[in-house]
Amino acid sequence: VDHPMIRPSINCVAMTYALAQDPQYEDLMTATSSLTGHKINRFTHLHQSSEDLVKKVKMQRLLGQKTASCFQRCVGMDAFNAVYSSTYEIDEKYGTHYHENFKKFLVYVQDNDLTVDGAMTDPKGDRSKAPHDQTDPDMYVHVVERRDDGIVVCGAKCHQTGSINSHWHIFMPTIAMGEADKDYAVSFACPTDAEGLYMIYGRQSCDTRKLEEGCIDVGNAKFGGQEALVVLDHVFIPNEYIFLNGEYEFAGTIVERFAGYHRQSYGGCKVGVGDVVIGAAALAAEYNGVEKASAVKDKLIEMTHLNETLYSCGIACSCEGGPTKAGNYQIDLLLANVCKQNVTRFPYEIVRLAEDIAGGLMVTMPSETDFKSETVVGNNGETIGEICNKYFAAREGVSTEDRQRIMRFLENMCLGAAAVGYRTESMHGAGSPQAQRIMIARQGNIQGKKKLAKNIAGIQK
Ligand code: SF4
Ligand code: FE
Repeated sequence: VDHPMIRPSINCVAMTYALAQDPQYEDLMTATSSLTGHKINRFTHLHQSSEDLVKKVKMQRLLGQKTASCFQRCVGMDAFNAVYSSTYEIDEKYGTHYHENFKKFLVYVQDNDLTVDGAMTDPKGDRSKAPHDQTDPDMYVHVVERRDDGIVVCGAKCHQTGSINSHWHIFMPTIAMGEADKDYAVSFACPTDAEGLYMIYGRQSCDTRKLEEGCIDVGNAKFGGQEALVVLDHVFIPNEYIFLNGEYEFAGTIVERFAGYHRQSYGGCKVGVGDVVIGAAALAAEYNGVEKASAVKDKLIEMTHLNETLYSCGIACSCEGGPTKAGNYQIDLLLANVCKQNVTRFPYEIVRLAEDIAGGLMVTMPSETDFKSETVVGNNGETIGEICNKYFAAREGVSTEDRQRIMRFLENMCLGAAAVGYRTESMHGAGSPQAQRIMIARQGNIQGKKKLAKNIAGIQK
C-alpha cells in the first residue's frame, strides 16, 4: 500500500470513505440500506428511487472534483445494482437461489463498508468467435469443474479499475451468450486474496515520475487511478457466492444493466474531473495575464457548456429511471447510452481547449529538479534554478512554482497518467463508442418516429 505508484489510487478510494464521514456530505455519501435499515455508504447502496439515482451522479461529480481522478469504487456499486435485479429474474424463471445468495453477500458488504470490483471485460481473443469457439478457452471466464459445494473457474478480466484496492470482486459475463456458451455464462463473488486469483498491474503514461524525488512533475501527485489484469487460475467458488451458472440468456441482461449504470456514472465522475480541468485552464490563463481576453473567456464558456451537457445527460437518465422487478431502480437505458456516447467525445474537446489555453509550456517546461538546481551556469553566478525562475516568471504576484504546478497538472490530465482516466477511459470505459450506438439503435424507436412523421404528413399506411 505504500508503493509510490499505487498509493495515489488508494488515496482516491480512501476519499469515498472520508467524505462519507463528513457531515456536510452525509446526504449524498450515505443512504439507508433497503436490506437492513442500517446507515451505509452510498457506494454499497441499491438505488430505491430516481432521487437515489440522481444522488449517485452528484456523489460521483463531488468525488471527481475532490480527486481529479477515477476513484474506482463505482464499478462495484453498478455491479450490485445490476446483479440484484438480474438474479431476482433468474430465480423467478428457474427457481434458483441466486438472489438470496446475492442479498446475503451484499448485507456483508454494506455492514463492513467494503470496496468491491465489478469485473466484466474478458480478454475476448478472436473477436469474430463466440466464447466456446475460441482456440484458448480461457479468453472468457468459464467453469472448468462443477462440484456439489461449488464451481472451479478459469480465465481473466482486463482493464480492471481499482482491482488491487478492492476487498472483493464480482465477476460478470461480458457479452450476451447462446446455449453453446453455457459454461461461460457465470457470475460470482470472490475475495481478492482467494487462492489462484492474482493481478498484473497496468502501466500508465509517465508513471515512473511518481518514483522521482519531488511531486510537481507528476501533476496530480496525490490521486490517481489503477487498472490490472485479473487472472483466475482454477479458483474455487462456493455455492453461496454464485449468482449465475449456466442460465445463458441472462448473461446479456447483466451486461446491459451493468453497462447502463456505468454509462450513467460517467455523467458524474468525468464531469467532476472536468470541473478541475476547467479550473486549471482558467488559472493558467490568469497566471499568463490573459484571463480577460475574449478568446480565452469564450473557450472557458465552451468547456463549461460541454461539461454541463455531460452532467445533464447523467441527471436526465437518472430522473427518467424506473423500478426493476426486484424493486431497485434502473436508469433510462437510452439516455444513459447517449450520456456515455457524449463522454467518448466531449472530454477530448475539453482537454484540446485546455491545451490551447495553457500553451506549449505544459509540455516543454524544465523539470522540478532543474527549477531547484543550485548548479551555477550564468556568467554572474546564476544557478540553473534561478535561470528557470527568471525565464518562466509570468504575471507579477504569481510564483513560477504555482505556474509550474498548474502546467504540470494540465499535462498530467491531458496526456500523462491521469489521461488514462480522463481521456481513454472516457472513450472505452463502460463500453467503447460502438457499444453505445448499438444500444441507441435498439432503444431509439425509429418505427415509432416514422409513425409520427406519417401522421403529420397525412400518409395513411
Ligand atoms: Fe467511478 Fe468513473 Fe472510475 Fe468508473 S471511471 S469507477 S464511474 S470514477
Ligand atoms: Fe471506468
